[in-house]
Amino acid sequence: MDFKWSKDQQALREAVVELAQAELNEGLHERDEREEFNRGGWNKLAAFGIHGLPIPAEYGGMGLDALTTVGVLERLGYGCRDNGLIFSINAHMWTVGMPLLAFGTDEQKARFLPKLCAGELVGANAMSEHESGSDAYSLTTTAENRGDHYLLNGSKTWVTNGPIADLIVVFATVDRDKGPNGVTGFLVEKGAKGLSVGGKLRKMGIRTSPMCEVFFDDCEVPVENRLGREGAGKNLFTHSMTWERACILASAVGSMERLLETSIAYARQRKQFGQSIGKFQMVQSRVVDMKLRLEAARSALYRAAAQRDSGKSIFLEAALAKLQISESWVRCAEDALQIHGGYGYMRESEIERELRDAVGSRIYSGTSEIQRSIIASLLGL
Ligand SMILES: Cc1cc2nc3c(=O)[nH]c(=O)nc-3n(C[C@H](O)[C@H](O)[C@H](O)COP(=O)(O)OP(=O)(O)OC[C@H]3O[C@@H](n4cnc5c(N)ncnc54)[C@H](O)[C@@H]3O)c2cc1C
Repeated sequence: MDFKWSKDQQALREAVVELAQAELNEGLHERDEREEFNRGGWNKLAAFGIHGLPIPAEYGGMGLDALTTVGVLERLGYGCRDNGLIFSINAHMWTVGMPLLAFGTDEQKARFLPKLCAGELVGANAMSEHESGSDAYSLTTTAENRGDHYLLNGSKTWVTNGPIADLIVVFATVDRDKGPNGVTGFLVEKGAKGLSVGGKLRKMGIRTSPMCEVFFDDCEVPVENRLGREGAGKNLFTHSMTWERACILASAVGSMERLLETSIAYARQRKQFGQSIGKFQMVQSRVVDMKLRLEAARSALYRAAAQRDSGKSIFLEAALAKLQISESWVRCAEDALQIHGGYGYMRESEIERELRDAVGSRIYSGTSEIQRSIIASLLGL
């Protein structure tokens, strides 16, 4: 596969790094400590077009193909060290914008997509519950059809963007006896009667991305806000997860490149035993492993995106990309931290935060174990 960028693609990739380095990193350490979302940064990236990269222009997006989209997000991850901000944008794009585009009615698309692309609305996705994580379709939140509206009852947890969300894609069952075939998607708007959000959940990493529980107590959702038909929630969720697995870690590839560059620079300048630590073969070996992982992760990312653009199914490639990049990102951050020694371990260091930010990638959008099971079953096991 030829992954050479055109002049236009290259210009976009360079422009996003410029914007990110100039405007998104200031005060990150303090925001991370305070667990604070950067709404100003969100708005700047929306104005650049990030929130609508793959959304057609008629709905306010840039209408880019999947490969260009991940190529731009990769460079965003390189330039912007605020992994939490990028994570929030990813949740907004892959689990709200894209399923709306695929499953929404014309009215729903016209009503919500332009504002999602402009960053005026913040999207969130609510699938996980206290008793249903990997086994997502065992959810217990119910939706009862009352004619012109549904009544939702239950609760969701780990809802990324929940505290600031204007529009939540909620999965609930219209008939528990039907198992996964009863699961249905709903667009629940901020202010809906019976909707409430819990306090912010505190996380190990990506702390600048807010998260909370969401509660439904006879929550009224108009029938016109059902996303897809009754019982089509499984297709909707699979669609979101496939896009998300393929693309959500594009920025992690950029982050890995940054970690590699920082580690090389440090290994060259840090002297112990009268020479640069980069002259020690054991340090070199770590740097080489970082480079290997970066290139393997990038290939998996581009391959999944290019295959999506060719119209083929990407269940396998998306799971491979998610698994490869998440595991590589964590290992890369660990290597970078080890190369930086005591400095790397300190709270002020970028590396300590990068490692905390990376760890969650092995859990969200399906854990590494779940990706392995998907891959094994697609290999016929
Ligand atoms: C940072 C972050 C953001 C998130 N954002 C959202 C969000 O916006 N919306 C949302 O709905 N959810 C969100 N989640 C939740 C996420 O989707 C779940 O954490 C994930 O699906 C795993 O579910 P669980 O945590 O309940 O783990 P469990 O399913 O309880 O798994 C626990 C352990 O058992 C393993 N395991 C489970 N089943 C199997 C199996 N069949 N084979 C082998 N091993 C297995 C898992 O791999 C894991 O190691 C987020 C999570 C994190 C960490």
